[in-house]
Amino acid sequence: MRFVSFTTPGDSRERPGILEADGVRSIRCESLRAYVALDPSARPARESGERLGLDAVEITAPIRPSRNVFCVGRNYLEHAKEGARAAGRELKLPEVPTFFTKTPSAIAGPDATVRFSSHVSNEYDFEAELAVVIGTRCKDVRERDAAGVVFGFTCLNDLTARDLQRAHLQWFKGKSLDDSCPIGPCIVSADEIGNAQALEIALRLNGATMQKSNTSQMIFPIARLIAELSKGMTLEPGDVIATGTPDGVGFARTPPQFLHDGDVVEVDIEGIGVLRNRIAIA
Ligand code: MG
Repeated sequence: MRFVSFTTPGDSRERPGILEADGVRSIRCESLRAYVALDPSARPARESGERLGLDAVEITAPIRPSRNVFCVGRNYLEHAKEGARAAGRELKLPEVPTFFTKTPSAIAGPDATVRFSSHVSNEYDFEAELAVVIGTRCKDVRERDAAGVVFGFTCLNDLTARDLQRAHLQWFKGKSLDDSCPIGPCIVSADEIGNAQALEIALRLNGATMQKSNTSQMIFPIARLIAELSKGMTLEPGDVIATGTPDGVGFARTPPQFLHDGDVVEVDIEGIGVLRNRIAIA
C-alpha cells in the first residue's frame, strides 16, 4: 500500500490516507504516525474512511516523526570518495555507520517550496536518500530480524548548508534548517517495495541528472543500520532513518554547484515515486 498525508481546502488539519489509482481513501486516525503505531492487526479497521479525488486534496509530508530524523553520513562508497577528494583528505571508511540527526521541524512536504535565506548560507546542497520508516517499537534488533520492524519506505532530500556543516564541525546545524528535510510523496509499505536493497535512486536538478545509483551500493545495508542504531537505544514507530546519499552532490563537483533561487530538485526512487521541491532563496 501507498500511504500519504493530506489536507483539504478550508481545512489545514493533516489527515492520513491510502493512495489509490484515482484518489485517496482516508484513514480514521489522527495522523499517519498514530496509524503506524497501531498493532498491525488493528490497522485494517481504520482504513475504511471517505474517498476523495486527487483534485480534492493537497498531499503533504507523509509522516511527522515525534523526534529527530536519524541520518547516516557516507553510506555509498562513491560518495565517500568524492567527499574525501573535495575535502583534500584521505579516504577512510568507518567501521560503524556515522549517525547524525535532523530536527523534525526541518520536515517539508512534496511539491512544497523550500525557503532558505542567503544570509544564513551560500552553499545549499542536495542529497537524494532512501528513508526507512520504523513500524514497531524495538531495541537491540538483530540484522536478520530488522526487516520485521520496518513499516515502509519513502524518498528524502537531505538538504545541507555546506558552509555551516563545515563551520560547526559536527553536522547538526548545517542539516537542520527549516525546510531542509523534504520527504514523500508517499510511504510505500515494506511488502510492496520488495527488495529495498535493489532500487534505482536518482536526483535531478532542473531536469538534469546529478545523482544516479542503486541502493545495492550502500556500505551499510538497511538491516545493519537498524541493528547498529537500535543497540541499547529504543526505536519508536514513526521514526525515520535516512540511509545516506550516492555520489554526485553539489559540493564535490568541479566546480562546486550549489542550489539557486528557483531551482527545482527531484529525488526519484524506483517503486516510490518523485519527491519534487522548488527552492526559494531570499
Ligand atoms: Mg545525507
